[in-house]
Amino acid sequence: MSSDSFDISDNEPVGLGLLDPYEARQRMANEYTRLRAAWFPNEHDTAATLQWLYLAEGSDDLDWGYSHNARLLRVVVREGDLAAAQLNDFASEANPTDVYHNFGALGSWRVYLAHELCHEWQFVVLNDQADDWGEQQFAERGQHWPGPGHTAAFYTAIRDFVQHFELDLDHVLDSI
Ligand SMILES: [Zn+2]
Repeated sequence: MSSDSFDISDNEPVGLGLLDPYEARQRMANEYTRLRAAWFPNEHDTAATLQWLYLAEGSDDLDWGYSHNARLLRVVVREGDLAAAQLNDFASEANPTDVYHNFGALGSWRVYLAHELCHEWQFVVLNDQADDWGEQQFAERGQHWPGPGHTAAFYTAIRDFVQHFELDLDHVLDSI
């Protein structure tokens, strides 16, 4: 081999690049199924249908969402989610309870997924009914998030999520 031969691996770190969007979609769908199964009781084992949007970075006009009437959970896959920095995040085969227990270290898409799953819990499990704690949080903190559905019952759902995965309540309330 001559000294001027060019080995691309010297210049392109292995593993950098974009994950195939359909591979990403499969992994995110698996994550939804696994996280849901780790939290929801068996009598509520019918999952929502996932709706997929692929957006370029900086396209903020459409966001994740959950529609209880349509039983749709909309997942937004952004270019940044496909970048190398997220590969380990996607590839994790760890137990969801372990993954979500470290809530502050989650990639943004996992935080969004948890947010929408709390909405699903709010409507499927709680029938959009808050407990006293949720009512109190809503009175003190207000809606806090833009858009519909961020009611007292959403606070109750977040509290249930936090208790199930043994998380820090204030941290999750601030970041979810
Ligand atoms: Zn929301």
